[in-house]
Amino acid sequence: MTQFVYRFGAESTEGDGSMKNLLGGKGAGLAEMSRIGMPVPPGFTLTTESCISYGREQGFTEAVRQQVGVSLQWLEEAMDCRMGDPERPLLVSVRSGARVSMPGMMDTILNLGLNRETLEGLGRRAGSRRFALDCYRRLLQMYGDVVMGIKASHAELHNPFEAILEEEKAVEGVDIDADLTESALDRICTRQEHLILERTGNPFPQDPHEQLWGAIAAVFGSWDNDRAIQYRRIYRFSDDWGTAANVQAMCFGNLGETSGTGVCFTRDPSTGANEFYGEFLMNAQGEDVVAGIRTPEPIERLRERMPEVHAELLSLRTRLEEHYRDMQDIEFTIQDGHLFLLQTRNGKRTGAAAVRIASDMVDEGLIDESTALARMDPEALNIFLQPAFEPTSQAAAEERGDYVGRGLPAGPGSATGVAVFSAEAAQHHVTRGSSVILIRPETSPEDIQGMHLSAGVLTARGGMTSHAAVVGRQMGIVCVVGFTRLDIDLQKRQMQCGDHVVKEGDPISIDGFTGDVYACAIETRPSSVMEALLTDNTTEERGSLHQMFSRIMGWADNARRLQVRANADTPEQARLAVALGAQGIGLCRTEHMFFEENRLPFMRRMILAETPEERRDALGKLLPYQRGDFEGIFRAMNGRPVTIRTLDPPLHEFLPHEPEDQQILADKFGLNPAAIAKSVERLHEFNPMLGHRGCRLGVVYPEITEMQVRAIIEAACTVISEGIPTLPEIMIPLVSTRAELENQGELARRVAEEVIAERGVKVPYLVGTMIELPRACVRAHEIAEVAEFFSFGTNDLTQTTFGLSRDDSSRFLPHYVDAGLLPWDPFVSMDVGVQDLVRIAVEKGQSTRKNIKLGICGEHGGDPSSIHFCHQVGLDYVSCSPYRIPIARLAAAQAAVGDE
Ligand code: PEP
Ligand code: MG
Repeated sequence: MTQFVYRFGAESTEGDGSMKNLLGGKGAGLAEMSRIGMPVPPGFTLTTESCISYGREQGFTEAVRQQVGVSLQWLEEAMDCRMGDPERPLLVSVRSGARVSMPGMMDTILNLGLNRETLEGLGRRAGSRRFALDCYRRLLQMYGDVVMGIKASHAELHNPFEAILEEEKAVEGVDIDADLTESALDRICTRQEHLILERTGNPFPQDPHEQLWGAIAAVFGSWDNDRAIQYRRIYRFSDDWGTAANVQAMCFGNLGETSGTGVCFTRDPSTGANEFYGEFLMNAQGEDVVAGIRTPEPIERLRERMPEVHAELLSLRTRLEEHYRDMQDIEFTIQDGHLFLLQTRNGKRTGAAAVRIASDMVDEGLIDESTALARMDPEALNIFLQPAFEPTSQAAAEERGDYVGRGLPAGPGSATGVAVFSAEAAQHHVTRGSSVILIRPETSPEDIQGMHLSAGVLTARGGMTSHAAVVGRQMGIVCVVGFTRLDIDLQKRQMQCGDHVVKEGDPISIDGFTGDVYACAIETRPSSVMEALLTDNTTEERGSLHQMFSRIMGWADNARRLQVRANADTPEQARLAVALGAQGIGLCRTEHMFFEENRLPFMRRMILAETPEERRDALGKLLPYQRGDFEGIFRAMNGRPVTIRTLDPPLHEFLPHEPEDQQILADKFGLNPAAIAKSVERLHEFNPMLGHRGCRLGVVYPEITEMQVRAIIEAACTVISEGIPTLPEIMIPLVSTRAELENQGELARRVAEEVIAERGVKVPYLVGTMIELPRACVRAHEIAEVAEFFSFGTNDLTQTTFGLSRDDSSRFLPHYVDAGLLPWDPFVSMDVGVQDLVRIAVEKGQSTRKNIKLGICGEHGGDPSSIHFCHQVGLDYVSCSPYRIPIARLAAAQAAVGDE
């Protein structure tokens, strides 16, 4: 019979840490912790399979009911308490836990098993009826919300349970929940019971078993709530995984001043420093720490308050790291001086912390280099490259009095943008091209979409482990939390701190390294790592970010097989690319050179030419510019290969469409403006991306290719004569037949040889093609006979494989992804159909030219999952934008480590 329920606890543990898919991350973690003797309150886990079966059968099967019954009995014996027992009531929590952590996405219910009768028993046992009432009112609120679905109505600003609590606090004249008297709590419980009856027509169930089943059903149901679905879309998790539900004996952090609850990290999740790090609240329960409503105390204070508990936590910290060999995020509760661990899991961390922790753990002998590499999220490296504030601009802001104050620095980086107070406003400003900073009293899972769009997040409440901090760090956005002096008015859409008022749309800047907030825009400058890379600074102290970054990159470079090149069009970009580790240029888009102000008129003249002579004449003017650019690029690349693509875009893109611009051009070259207007009209295409572009330009106007090849080879001759090795690779775009490449390839080789003969300099060069059309993929064996290399242009290949315009797809593609018709945006991560075409082209190409050089230069060349594919299919290199090079180096290493 299928096992749907697994127990954990000191007495008996059925699962272990490897069973995440079945027990969820939390359930597997509890099982593993119990196994290694951590002080974990016992309980049992309903598997993810029982969640799926619950959805399929629209209810619990007999097998599930029966297994839960048996395990519940076991738990009652282990705790020497019974569900519903008036004297020794067993209380449990029910928590969701999917196979991957989805912070704050799904539901938790605590104190199940309390009713009017058992609460008195609990009160007698705890010696405090007040405490029992406090547990009961929390249960009423959580159950009312999560299971019975009572939410704030449109007319209500606050959750109605919170509203009752706030009203009674006002009546009592107290600020914090812990100061409420027993009689106030009595009133609150009665009012909350009435609220439930009034809103749902049903009383709060007094039967503890009914409560338990209701809670499990709600947890399973929460897998399909909107915010969980949205989260899965963003992180591309499958809807079919389901969540597990963990039923666990309660322990109480709200039993008075010798009790408390907290969250800690075995190392600093923000910097990665090997320091115990965390927060706690005395006399508090459950979610109080992460909810960000009360600002918690740093863990160091626990040393003063409860030295033995602090010492025990420190020893557990070492044991947990030795066992898990990774930084742990621990939830603990102290019940009357006794420590319990409720959860441990690999802690979320910033990119900077990930690198520091991996590097330190290799030194400490906890892990090896391959493990360190496999563990890092390539995207998280972004943080090293993220800008910091420009010191002069920051000083000027301070001088002007724009400094507002300081919150907690929860996600490093510096961000500047317009202030927004809701996800809708974030969307509004982002679609208009602005960078935004989302400002909230505290963030909740509903804000996830808004955070995703924001460059930074600022909150008034919450600590370093609040929702905003955890999610912000994971997303790699700049994050300042717990800025308690901030007065946020969501109605007026403004924030105020002293004299500073920032309204929606006003500029604001936040510094996630320090927590500083400014009511103005501040210029940013490259990160310290970027600066060190660009100045080749190797003298800084040990342990600097740059040094650790370089160390990890060194491991990645040793591990990977794929080469990493850059897409770069200017000498400046080429230098940046080399600083970031590029081993060549995989795509130089030459058309970008023609858009510059002094060159565009000659380009236009060339396009409007009536005869080859006129065209040659105009091209002659462009040649020196182009040659100069190539020289700069070759010097910057210092012998690394440079793939230069001949002209690709439809010509009309260069033409003046406005009458004023046509007049300017006419004046410059003594042409007739009406004739120019006619030519512009003549060059109009209905479907330019499938029109006269790519190699089709060079086929019809060979003079263009001739000029470009001449510029390339002349530049190479000059740079080689300076003693700098140079390796140009001439690349013909948008080829679909062997004949096209033969036509352009022969022309390119003829001109190259002419120049080499004229200049008397030996230039090693290759001629190859882009593979970016389906026909080219399936006839790649023919094309390879004349191509010395292939570079997959997966932007166009995706466009043409799907017949999906890359310029218009954003209007409807998100809908496809939301509706599950496509698993992801195929322009971001390579689609499987496109992968099939690449695989065919690789096999066919190698069948006629065994050692053909293979690369990719579409945007996918910088996408980690596409890079894994490139590794597997046997490409020689990936090429991506300069800032993604470190990400590509790490992703390529992970692909290689995965092979081992
Ligand atoms: C491509 O199509 O993938 C490519 C790299 O070329 P472009 O984006 O310039 O069309
Ligand atoms: Mg292309």
